Amino acid sequence: MATKNCPHCGAEIDSEAQRCYVCKEWLTDENIPAEDKPQEFLPTLLFAYFLGVFGIHRFYTGNIPIGITQLLTFGGCVIWAYIDFILICFNKFKDGQGRHLSNYNANIGITLFVISLIPLVILILAVVAMTALFTAAIIK
Ligand SMILES: [Zn+2]
Repeated sequence: MATKNCPHCGAEIDSEAQRCYVCKEWLTDENIPAEDKPQEFLPTLLFAYFLGVFGIHRFYTGNIPIGITQLLTFGGCVIWAYIDFILICFNKFKDGQGRHLSNYNANIGITLFVISLIPLVILILAVVAMTALFTAAIIK
């Protein structure tokens, strides 16, 4: 039997296979029935960034139980939603069926990840500055 390696996970699979039996990724785009394709990378990323605390990116990618959990916990106090956002940026995020998202773009992912750090850095600097001012006020 002729075999080939899955381009997604490297597993040895039948050369005729259209879908990897290990990671469940489809091997060629044209073989993927439209309704069976994972959701697209960019909308998922934007959902995670703007609406991640409501678990919208999880609902969108077919992971309803986690979506509901995030909705009820306000995105796991924001932290879980932000971790999901980072996973999406670096193509480590899996949909409800354990598949990577369609049309991943590393440039967009890394750029948006860096942009997302800006408010975080500003927040940390603000906290440090406030603490310094507060400490100075007490010492006086
Ligand atoms: Zn695979």
